[in-house]
Amino acid sequence: VIAEIVAIGSEMLTPFRQDTNSLYLTGQLNELGVSVAFKTVVGDHLLQLTSVARTAIERSDIVIFMGGLGPTEDDLTRECVAEALGVELRRDHDLVAAMYKRFAERRISMPENNARQADVIRGADVVPNSRGSAPGQWFQREQNGRPQILILLPGPPHELQRMWEKDILPRLRPLVPPAAIATRVLKTAMLAESAADARTAPIYKKYPNIETTVLAGQGQVEFHLKTTAPTMQEAEAAIEKLAGELQDELGDAVFSTSGESLEEIVGLFLQMRDKKLAVAESCTGGLVAERITSVAGSSRYFLGGAVVYANELKTLFADVPPLLIEAHGAVSREVALALAENIRDICNADIGVGVTGIAGPGGGTEEKPVGLVYIAVSDGQKHEIVERRFLGDRERIRRWASQQALDLVRRMMM
Ligand code: ATP
Ligand code: MG
Repeated sequence: VIAEIVAIGSEMLTPFRQDTNSLYLTGQLNELGVSVAFKTVVGDHLLQLTSVARTAIERSDIVIFMGGLGPTEDDLTRECVAEALGVELRRDHDLVAAMYKRFAERRISMPENNARQADVIRGADVVPNSRGSAPGQWFQREQNGRPQILILLPGPPHELQRMWEKDILPRLRPLVPPAAIATRVLKTAMLAESAADARTAPIYKKYPNIETTVLAGQGQVEFHLKTTAPTMQEAEAAIEKLAGELQDELGDAVFSTSGESLEEIVGLFLQMRDKKLAVAESCTGGLVAERITSVAGSSRYFLGGAVVYANELKTLFADVPPLLIEAHGAVSREVALALAENIRDICNADIGVGVTGIAGPGGGTEEKPVGLVYIAVSDGQKHEIVERRFLGDRERIRRWASQQALDLVRRMMM
């Protein structure tokens, strides 16, 4: 079954308004086991809307149009869908009568153009709108031996959602083949996107029935798996198999398979091992602490630490000897390790993290370019220091560095 959503309204083609209804509808359709193949946003424009409607009717089994059902001149959905279908509009006199009645009850006369809301595509059923005045429409026919369903819904989200739940969903459910959708997200840390994809593509390409999407950003590559099957057990089993193979290939780079963020996983590990964490951050300026404390309950395992930007503060708050900084530079393996070990001691923590680097855009040299970051982690017995040369702007470099720091903490506890 191919489903398509068309959002109608010029305001959604500006930077100020977004089509959020389609997110709701996509979720609802997915629960029915129907994937959405196309989403379009089109303005309140006669020819453009008709053209979009034609294309949608041509290629999709279920088309949901929303918005543009009001009484004003720029509400063109009825006309355009009828035109695209090659079907007439008929004025529903019961609807007109009901509208007159509603206006009369409020002792105001009905504007002439309001009656446009009673224009119904010939062959379509009127769907009542309990939260607004523009009714929806349901049009169903056989097309090339398959059922095709076109649905017109009002734009205001509370009207649309109510109509969907009350009238559309119960009517649609028995018409779509029973299907279940299973999804899984594998998240990895500190893999390059191209390398991760090169290693995994030969695996997921073997499963053409599972849709695999690779999303990457700042030290995180995510594999989003999705499949449809007649039953949930079958769908889950297929996903499970591919997820297992991917995990075997990616090994401990995978930190989460049930949606958790890296900071949540680090928190879970710290709590499980009953360890307390402290951080001393230079170039990340508190980003590591910010990410850790964004997780509710982090006070159980995170003590705190220091933002030590100036060299004097590295000494004052993290006991880094001035001579060490002089000998190796503030951005060095030695200083990163001293930050990690000393903040651990000072805070009485089990694990300490130190980050020092050059986030740019200024401040780089030939020997120590922008993007050079040292990240250290220590538990008092063993330690790990990583030197990285991150690419990109200041924000990216800082984000990558925080990701590396969190990942080192995770690995220290594995
Ligand atoms: P009305 O009778 O209220 O005019 P309508 O069906 O003509 O209903 P629109 O005029 O297109 O609907 O939209 C009304 C309001 O609904 C818009 O101002 C907007 O705030 C909201 N809206 C419309 N479409 C969407 C959408 N796809 N996602 C989120 N909000 C929407
Ligand atoms: Mg309107």
